[in-house]
Amino acid sequence: MVTSMIDLMEREQARSSGVYLKRDLQIVRGEGAALYDAAGCRYIDCVGGQGAANLGHNHPAVIAAIQRQLNDLISCPELFHNPIRARYQDELCRAATNMPRVFLCSSGAEAVEAALKFARLATRRPNFIAAMRGFHGRTMGALSVTWEKTYREPFEPLLPGVRHVPYNNLERLTEALDDTIAAVILEPIQGEGGVHPAQPGYLAEVQRLCHERGALLILDEVQTGFGRTGSLFAYQHDGIQPDLVCLAKSIAGGLPMGAILIGERVGPLPPAAHGSTFGGGPVACAAALAVLEVLQTTDLIERAARLGAAVLDHLHTNRPAGVREVRGRGLMIGLELRGKVAPVLRALQTRGVLALPAGSTVLRLLPPLVISEDDFWQAVHTIEEVVNDAF
Ligand SMILES: *Cc1c(COP(=O)(O)O)cnc(C)c1O
Repeated sequence: MVTSMIDLMEREQARSSGVYLKRDLQIVRGEGAALYDAAGCRYIDCVGGQGAANLGHNHPAVIAAIQRQLNDLISCPELFHNPIRARYQDELCRAATNMPRVFLCSSGAEAVEAALKFARLATRRPNFIAAMRGFHGRTMGALSVTWEKTYREPFEPLLPGVRHVPYNNLERLTEALDDTIAAVILEPIQGEGGVHPAQPGYLAEVQRLCHERGALLILDEVQTGFGRTGSLFAYQHDGIQPDLVCLAKSIAGGLPMGAILIGERVGPLPPAAHGSTFGGGPVACAAALAVLEVLQTTDLIERAARLGAAVLDHLHTNRPAGVREVRGRGLMIGLELRGKVAPVLRALQTRGVLALPAGSTVLRLLPPLVISEDDFWQAVHTIEEVVNDAF
């Protein structure tokens, strides 16, 4: 059993492209916020499918919805109408408030690509403003608005006309926002860039500036969406109305899916301006409809707000010596360490806790929102011990 596991890990490594640095761990099963390896060892999951598992692993409502849909129809391109897609689009737009339309795709990067294209179409302007430390995906357009130079440099030249300004800095944004800017694209909380939340009032002021200067506001909620920060979408904390909202990760209970919500300020989009073969597929729509229903009929979102606030409060008042700063909102939490995060992640894994990095010194927690309080506090206390040992 163990030999075959090691053999399979080696074979997987040999046949992989090489772009992933895999951990020395083979995951075979998940339930709620627990993951299991081939030997049956249980791990408390604070990776949460890298943000794709807000409802936890193998949520029964998602499984049931997928199974029902599999019996009817698996693929249905958007040249036909489809009832489950009709229901999902309607429910998603209603949940987002004042978002009359939506385009469906299959991933976060695709959602960002589409948002950039829609913004150019709607404004007939060429340029974009994005934020330093921002992350929006790995395809050429999404990469162009992403900040991290190690992701970008090998692939240059990228899209011209992208201006990166410091996040939470209105002065620099005001200087950069001229009449060539189609849109400003921001994450409400920067995820990959180190878990940096927008300061109160920042996004509202960015929105005001965009309106004043005829630009669109694109919010990338790929990581912050679907209850993660304690509201369905993070922008709803701020009472603002973005023009385009990019969604993916937890949208369909772990199935690949993305979406772009389209606001009133974006005019009608001409036929054939964009498209996707898999976008709006009925299985993904069925799963996504189930996700929305669970989020709307349970207290998971409120619980994420409450549990996240309690843990953040605890970590702020009892900040371990090895932690420089604690940031986050809801169940999106980052600990800025005084040293490298990689050895901390390895030590946590040996103690049954899986977590994420965000850059080289930030420990990031994205547990499924269904995580039990006991499991989450145990993960937090293990982190405190490991960090205290490490630094
Ligand atoms: C993960 C992520 C993306 C990219 O999503 P993919 O599905 O991996 O293409 C884009 N934006 C943000 C904020 C993300 O966290």
